[in-house]
This record gives sequence, structure tokens and C-alpha cells, in this order.
Amino acid sequence: MKITVYKSYGYCFGVKRAIEIVEKTLPKEGKTYILGEVIHNPTVNKGLSEKGLMIVDDIKDVPDNSIFFYPSHGITEGNKKKAEEKSLNCHSLICPYVVDIADKAKKYEKEGYKILIYGNPDHTEVSSLVSQLKSPIVIREKDDIEKIGNFKKAVFLSQSTQNRKKYYTLFKEIATSCYWEQFLGLFTICKATYERQDWVLEHISEFDLFIIVGGKNSSNTKRLYDIVIENKKKGLLMEKWGKTIFNKIKKYLNIAIISGTSTPKEDVDEIVSEIKGRVVKNGSSVNIHYT
Ligand code: SF4
Repeated sequence: MKITVYKSYGYCFGVKRAIEIVEKTLPKEGKTYILGEVIHNPTVNKGLSEKGLMIVDDIKDVPDNSIFFYPSHGITEGNKKKAEEKSLNCHSLICPYVVDIADKAKKYEKEGYKILIYGNPDHTEVSSLVSQLKSPIVIREKDDIEKIGNFKKAVFLSQSTQNRKKYYTLFKEIATSCYWEQFLGLFTICKATYERQDWVLEHISEFDLFIIVGGKNSSNTKRLYDIVIENKKKGLLMEKWGKTIFNKIKKYLNIAIISGTSTPKEDVDEIVSEIKGRVVKNGSSVNIHYT
């Protein structure tokens, strides 16, 4: 069996930063609160919860005057206001790339551009961005283009963890959907996200199976899986190694492993080592390399 691991596995810059801030704060402050998960990884969230981090789904469940984290992909203006009313001591985990997207969108809106956002309207990052703008339009699929209407000038940008190829496809469709005086594209998908997508696309024909390691709620992890499936290749999405996995993969001889941006490095190492151990136990050889 040959196993090829995409070398930039483990946390992206924004996730690493968020976890470091939480880990530094917890020993000093004890019980602290966050709206939603720190990252979309159950093992990491469980570990932080054991150290005192309380994950809540609604800000009303945070007691007044508590220590409160804004999650890494943003928080709505409504929730920021509620945090203020509750006199919460707020620390932001919002990734600087996400902050930068919002800053750019606000700047262009001020200059009279209609803001068109490629993204999932239910994702925290998009709801947070929408809440910071006057009347943006969220485009998730091609069909949403119809609802844009007529504007003289618009800027089309993206949620940080969307699909690079689809961004360009939508950009072209929107550009020709109306007689714009000015139509600008701001490519705001973050590097950690699109580099992984590019790697999968570049090597799509080389492997029998792509194992994608990451949380099931993780947007960028899901994008990697979608790319594999859209290209009619075999993909297996997993959060962690599990006992039944080897049976599913043992027939494949040339496997790629890639992780989402919020997957701990150790989860990927464990998967590689478990596969290796089983292949060798079965009397076959395994060739592992990182590229
Ligand atoms: S995926 Fe990109 S935008 Fe999201 S936290 Fe990581 S670096 Fe920041």
C-alpha cells in the first residue's frame, strides 16, 4: 500500500491562534464561556471544556460579568450588543483573515458598492458579516444570482472557507448577469483553505481513495470532501481513527490523506500509524510519504 499525506496538516494559523488564546486564559480565569465550538473538532472542544470552557448555543446562557470568547469565525452584531448588556469581559478569537474580509466589505459598502457574499447563510462567519453590513446579498448557489437585482456597482467576495473553483464560476456568472458599471471580485478565501483544495484537484487522478480528516461541521473539511466526490473519486470523511475503518480502506492500494484546517496533527498521525500497523500485521508492505 502507498500512503501520501499532504504535508501541511494540522491547524491553520487562525485555529492555532484561537486555541493558544483560550489555553492561556483558562488557567488564569477558570470558568469561561464561548458561543458555539472553539473549532469544529469534538476532541479539542472536550479537552478545553474539561479545563473550564463552557460551550453555549445561546448568549442568554452566559451569566452576567463572565469571561466570554468571540468564536474564531465571528459573532453577530446582535450578540455583541447582548454581551455588552450583560457586562461580559470579551476576548476575541476571530481569525485576522475573517476580520479583514469584514473590514473590506464595510469599506466598499461605504463607497456605495452592493456587497455580494459567496457563502453559507447559516454559517457563523456569514451571519456575522451580514450583521455588520447594511443590505448585503448572500449567494450560495447559481440560482441565488436571480435575486441580485440591478445595481450600478457591486463587489463579490467570499466566506473564508468556500470552494475556490466555485467562487470563480459564480464570479463569471454574476459579472455577465447584469450591465454593471463596476463589478469587482475580491478573492477572500483564505490560503490555508484554497491550498488544500488545490492539492486535491492537482492530484485527483493519482489516488484510489482520499481520506479527509476533520470535523463533520467544519466548512473547509466538507469542501475537500465535496471536491473529491464531484470529481467522481472515492472519498472517506473521518473525524478520528475508528476500529471499523481499516475494513473500508484495505482494498485501496494508493491512498491520499489530507486534513481540514481545524484537525489536530495527532489525529492524522494516529490514522497513518494505525493503517501502517494493520497493513504490516497482514504481511504486506506500506510506503508512506509526505508531500
Ligand atoms: S480556515 Fe482560514 S479563515 Fe478560518 S481560522 Fe483558519 S486561517 Fe482563519
